[in-house]
Amino acid sequence: MKFNTKAIHGGQENVDPAYGSVMPPIYQTTTFSQTTPGGHKGFEYSRSGNPTRAALERALASIENGKFGLAFASGLAAIDAVLKLFKPGDEIISTNDLYGGSYRLFTGIYEKFGIKFHFVGMNDAAKIEDYVNENTRMIWVETPTNPMMNIIDIEAVSRITKKHEILLAVDNTFATSYLQQPLEMGADIVMHSATKYLGGHSDVVMGSLVVKEKALAEKLYFIQNASGGVTGPQDSFLVLRGIKTLHLRMQRHCENGEAVARFLKGHPKVKNVYWPGFEDHPNHHIAKKQMKGFGGMISFTTAEDTLESAVKIVENLKVFTLAESLGGVESLAGHPASMTHASIPKSERAKTGILDSMIRLSVGIEDEEDLVNDLKQALG
Ligand SMILES: *Cc1c(COP(=O)(O)O)cnc(C)c1O
Repeated sequence: MKFNTKAIHGGQENVDPAYGSVMPPIYQTTTFSQTTPGGHKGFEYSRSGNPTRAALERALASIENGKFGLAFASGLAAIDAVLKLFKPGDEIISTNDLYGGSYRLFTGIYEKFGIKFHFVGMNDAAKIEDYVNENTRMIWVETPTNPMMNIIDIEAVSRITKKHEILLAVDNTFATSYLQQPLEMGADIVMHSATKYLGGHSDVVMGSLVVKEKALAEKLYFIQNASGGVTGPQDSFLVLRGIKTLHLRMQRHCENGEAVARFLKGHPKVKNVYWPGFEDHPNHHIAKKQMKGFGGMISFTTAEDTLESAVKIVENLKVFTLAESLGGVESLAGHPASMTHASIPKSERAKTGILDSMIRLSVGIEDEEDLVNDLKQALG
């Protein structure tokens, strides 16, 4: 099956043997009756497994071209489960320019438990190898990065992880399974904040992992069940519904994203525009190679280059809503330095280029003209 068909049907055979309902029922139950101790029909207790969640997990695996899917209570709960694969003394190399909450989880919690993190600029994949030693267990890649829209060459990084027999995990939240398939490029684990594009309607917080290897899936399933950061049946149903239109939404996100990026680039009140679709983006050629489109995430800095000028613009927007998060049908604007990336110290932010004058846009699927006009009036 190709992607669009998988988005609708992947893993969804026979979801309701009782009545043949086309969508899986929402099994809003904690437990399942047994005829004799251990005599159940595949489900015992909803932390360990629930049929609605299982239908979603199969869909997640299908669209990501993996074999095993796992759904969690949030994107961070999914990342947390990955980190529990490791022990004190282990080292992880991570993208330096990454989601603020991931950085907070790595440094604020797991460093305390003795895991060492190296935050490395991965624009040049060859540089990563300098940080690999006998304690290295995983490389964590986010691409496109948030909010700088750097593109990391997944295949090039996977050559390093394969050579050293360590894991490669990719946070695929920004690109989604529709635009980018990391498992096909050598990744071992793909993570999503399903809160964003997979859910797609800004109404669910959820995270997911997809892997190909059975042994790795079993370890992660053990952690999912033992630690218990699972998602509920109602939310599983909503994300399953979201996935069915992922391909259509992403096409429009890409079209509108391009229109907005090109508009901003020519504007006198705008300094830099970060969007991987520009031919002069430093990693445009890699984006073109590993992504089916360039997405709807755009960051830009103001010509005035002050915090005040950025704040004024986001306050003046009318169609774009000033809010955290991204990936929903509606357009959102954010100010990374004071919102999504406030948990990263200013000095660290400056190193990666997250200036106080930066605005991040999640371009939605409204009419392109209305979005451009809104930016025009807010900049004016
Ligand atoms: C939002 C986000 C996360 C965290 O996901 P939650 O669902 O908010 O826990 C991780 N990575 C990226 C790239 C994100 O945008």
